[in-house]
Amino acid sequence: MTVGGALAHAHTLGVDRLDAHLLLCTVLGCTRTWLLSHDQDAMPEGPLARYLSWLSRRADGEPLAYLLGDKEFFGLTLKVTPDTLIPRPDTETLVEWALSLIPEAGPARVVDLGTGSGAIALALAHARPQANITAVDASAGALAVALDNARQLGLRVRGLQGSWLTPLAGERFDLIVSNPPYIAEGDPHLPALRHEPITALTSGPDGLDDIRLIVAQAPAHLAPGGWLLLEHGYNQAPEVGALLRQQGFEEVSTRFDLGGQPRCTGGRRPA
Ligand code: GLN
Repeated sequence: MTVGGALAHAHTLGVDRLDAHLLLCTVLGCTRTWLLSHDQDAMPEGPLARYLSWLSRRADGEPLAYLLGDKEFFGLTLKVTPDTLIPRPDTETLVEWALSLIPEAGPARVVDLGTGSGAIALALAHARPQANITAVDASAGALAVALDNARQLGLRVRGLQGSWLTPLAGERFDLIVSNPPYIAEGDPHLPALRHEPITALTSGPDGLDDIRLIVAQAPAHLAPGGWLLLEHGYNQAPEVGALLRQQGFEEVSTRFDLGGQPRCTGGRRPA
């Protein structure tokens, strides 16, 4: 099979052209420009076998990031595995909001709950080297990926295994951030996400079980005047705002993602 034939084969399987280019470049160790000028070259056997196996997995809906093993988030290249949710551009809204609350100089105490690949914690650590960042995840597999990413990127993050704030008894923070699971069990979008860890996606019948836990646990772990910022589903802002107000949070507001959806809601513990 030629390079051009390999790309044509992706098309017949319904695999997106850009995805096919990226998979082919990875197995051949070449650039996309090279591909286009070498479409008559024969595919070497090893790379061809690897490419064909990836194509059939991609055609079956496996995300490109799991095949390639990494994903770009907030300018950082992060390793991702099936133990971790794939970072979404939507989550950059949460990172931008968090950065607006962390001083550029000074030792702010920040915790990222349900860190997964470490995306939020590492984006914050990269932009605010003086902050003390803790990353928590209930999954040992995910936490190992997050700490591996920290090492690869040379970023300093403390990792703790456990559920939400439970591994942080007696500790207080200036900022708590989380992109927890928030999809309702039985949501019609779930089949399309079947390759990602279900525990990182769903949270009870209305998707809010984990957000309720975090909002309830947070006041005891916030310094006076500290903030809690939560990512949530496009239709959950009113409920998340109400939960925060019920727990005594002030200055409750919502921010929108690049697609224009209300994506994060946060509030402040009274000073
Ligand atoms: N935003 C993700 C999605 O709907 C879900 C992430 C999450 O549950 N935290 O694809």
